[in-house]
Amino acid sequence: MALGIALAGIGKIARDQHIPSIAKEPGFTLAATASRNPEATVNGVEAFPSLDALLSARPDIPAVSLATPPQARFADAHLALSHGKHVMLEKPPGATLTEVHTLEALARDKGVSLFATWHSREAAAVDAAHQWLRDRTLTRVDIQWKEDVRHWHPGQEWIWEAGGLGVFDPGINALSVMTAILPTPVHLTKARLDFPSNRDTPVAAALRFQGSDEAEITAEFDWLETGPPKWTIDIETSEGAACLSGGGARFEAEGVAVAGADEEYARLYKRFADLIEAGEVEVDLAPMRHVADAFTLGRRVVVDAFDW
Ligand code: NAP
Repeated sequence: MALGIALAGIGKIARDQHIPSIAKEPGFTLAATASRNPEATVNGVEAFPSLDALLSARPDIPAVSLATPPQARFADAHLALSHGKHVMLEKPPGATLTEVHTLEALARDKGVSLFATWHSREAAAVDAAHQWLRDRTLTRVDIQWKEDVRHWHPGQEWIWEAGGLGVFDPGINALSVMTAILPTPVHLTKARLDFPSNRDTPVAAALRFQGSDEAEITAEFDWLETGPPKWTIDIETSEGAACLSGGGARFEAEGVAVAGADEEYARLYKRFADLIEAGEVEVDLAPMRHVADAFTLGRRVVVDAFDW
């Protein structure tokens, strides 16, 4: 039987992905929404001005999905878990690592499911890249994650405010894929973060990682790339080269070509339903640890002011 689910934060990603994906997932039915803007509603679905109001009025709803920006994540997630709800978190799962550790402990204490999602890991060719890399010796990885912030985040001020991550908002997607496909863990050894003189968060970043072998692993994130976005991971191994492109949608290597439709959010909601059924918690903080490391280890460079 379908579980009622409440969705908080009726903005870009809620409309682009969450609402259509919930509609297609037999495990859930969209039972209510919460958004501060009275016009941010979904036809035929009960709407509330806050998650607090929603939870008080509709104690029957067992699951909550949060599609708000990261700065708002902890308060709503803590509230929902405290009410004994199963909770699904957009990426990044919080504004700090400790917030998410606190949420995970609360979920376990309450005996409910908590799912920290990484939508890019669900892209069609990510698993193929992981399988291909498993038995090969890595020599080089070059991650290029470059897009036009004015096109992809029009007018979103939260991305430029502390906790909004700046270019790491898309960059953490690359790191979620990197941590899913590499056969052994890596750690950050060097980073440069370019901060516009009028903003709290970076517009570009260059990262270098070290793994257990001699492989050279680098990443470049840039939010001022105009034209088509570049969401690519080039891979070299002792046994040949490969490329994961389109944000994880396509994988190519000698004799291998994998591509598929975008079912990232459909897969996330299916997984959330499965976690609830199994009574499990899924929280992997590896992508967010690399971002936190970049902010602690990285050299800060002040660049031109950014205005829309
Ligand atoms: P958004 O449209 O700017 O924000 C989503 C909604 O959250 C807004 O409509 C707003 O609704 C509410 N909100 C905004 N700031 C808030 C605040 N400070 N406190 C409480 N609520 C607030 O953002 P988005 O692009 O959908 O992104 C939301 C999350 O999804 C982010 O974590 C992002 O990384 C992730 N995501 C986005 C995309 C994308 O393509 N945009 C893709 C994948 C994942 P009300 O004002 O009505 O409350």
